[in-house]
Amino acid sequence: MKEVESQKLIVIVEDDPDVARIIEQVLGDFSFRTVWCRSAGDLLRRLRTLRPDLCIIDLGLPDMDGIEAMQRVRGLSSCGILILTGRAHVSDRVMGLELGADDYMLKPFEPRELVARVRSILRRHEATTGHQGRQVAEFAGWHFNLANNALHSPGGEEHLLSTSEADLLKVFVSNPNRILQREQLMGTRDLVPTDRSIDVRISRLRRKLEPDQNSQAFIKTVYGAGYLFLASVTWGSPGAGK
Ligand code: CA
Repeated sequence: MKEVESQKLIVIVEDDPDVARIIEQVLGDFSFRTVWCRSAGDLLRRLRTLRPDLCIIDLGLPDMDGIEAMQRVRGLSSCGILILTGRAHVSDRVMGLELGADDYMLKPFEPRELVARVRSILRRHEATTGHQGRQVAEFAGWHFNLANNALHSPGGEEHLLSTSEADLLKVFVSNPNRILQREQLMGTRDLVPTDRSIDVRISRLRRKLEPDQNSQAFIKTVYGAGYLFLASVTWGSPGAGK
């Protein structure tokens, strides 16, 4: 049994008990710990005490749309999110990924593929949080902790970023004062990202970083070329300085 994987906690948000049972069984076979929530309300209550590594969220939930549930989770946790749904429409898929899901899988699903995708998300999360000694980026009084995606303003206010916003900010703080093309800013998602999906993420990030809506103090648009992160970045560890 692999010790590391056996410690991962996966929350399953699914109103169909038969489907939930199958997911719990297959993940249990691969030594993951699982918790089943049968509604979005149940999930949000449990997240007050649980710290899952990943949530598997059905879009068709009885009490709340799964996309909204996912956004609420994003506000509370930087865990991985896998949407598992019967909704095959491309707009659901694009919206889910734009709003911060790490992956999107359709029902009916192949159990081994589910495990493979869960592992892939967990690996990606570990890869982006495993930079020893480069865990906190500081720029103009801001602190960005790459380990938990927490962004603190100079005044100490905390913003939790979605995975996709945090991935974008990671690329920016690692490459300050350089023109970055759209392709360099795109994540490792399976979906082919559209220009719009990058623009949506940029504007979300700007809303958190910039003093007002039209400001480009940090993230400058370079027309026809890409984007530029204008800041002097220093690196520290979570304990140091902050
Ligand atoms: Ca359902």
